[in-house]
Amino acid sequence: MAYYECHGHIFMDGHVFRDAMELHRNGVVREVVDERLGLLREAGVVYYRDGGDRLGVSAYARSRAEEYGVEYRTCLFGTHKRHMYGGLVGYAFDTASDFRALTARAKAEKADFIKLMISGIMDFQSFGGLTGGGLEPEEIPELIKIAHGEGFRVMAHVNGAERIKAALEAGLDSVEHGYFMDDECLVLLKETGAVWVPTLAATAGFAGRSGFVQGVAEANLRHACEMLRRAKELGVLVAAGSDAGAVNVPPDRGIHIEHTLLAAAGLTPEDVRRGDNAIRKRFVYGG
Ligand SMILES: [Zn+2]
Repeated sequence: MAYYECHGHIFMDGHVFRDAMELHRNGVVREVVDERLGLLREAGVVYYRDGGDRLGVSAYARSRAEEYGVEYRTCLFGTHKRHMYGGLVGYAFDTASDFRALTARAKAEKADFIKLMISGIMDFQSFGGLTGGGLEPEEIPELIKIAHGEGFRVMAHVNGAERIKAALEAGLDSVEHGYFMDDECLVLLKETGAVWVPTLAATAGFAGRSGFVQGVAEANLRHACEMLRRAKELGVLVAAGSDAGAVNVPPDRGIHIEHTLLAAAGLTPEDVRRGDNAIRKRFVYGG
């Protein structure tokens, strides 16, 4: 089977991300990236959409991927509001005009799309809990409009119904993670044709981890699977992305885990391929 990894980070190795960043701190360690591309090929991955890093690792991977038979797309770096989650994978902006400058930089460096961090991450302390901060819903439309105006599709890290709705109403192209949706979010996904990439493997990777409240990852996952069942009924586009390289998500075979989890949530391989194809077709510059 040929797999599309619709959400990965080639710089991460499935363990502690700080060590992964440290490795490339003084320049991309090319052998490591080449080895990982080789492992992706062995795992059957033919398409990879990278959610970015700050060290040029995904840019190097893109330059090498063809040799490994992988169609590679990357935002190069993510973007986030200062003091908000996202510093690991990108650059901060304070104002919309700073964001415009980052978009121009992405264009100059030939990014394939823009990655925008809209909310915090799951805190795994209580069901539905998110780390603080995030864009105000009213800040979101202008940013998406700027990126679209420059010819980019927008991939957004976003959890929580209120922000997901605001982003979809503003024309967001793909919802990454998308935890704690409600029915209105699903209807908006269907109406706008945006794609949901639930990254179930990354959440499953938190199950049983020390330092987090036991059972919360499982509860969050159950809720996402319930929403996925309804998404299927509505005909929402859902794509497979494992957040490859995140903690407990193997950088090469994370996508296999994701497919198993999506199947358990009731999605057929054909359902997933429809979402995967939409991602692959749209997330190119000018696409
Ligand atoms: Zn990610």
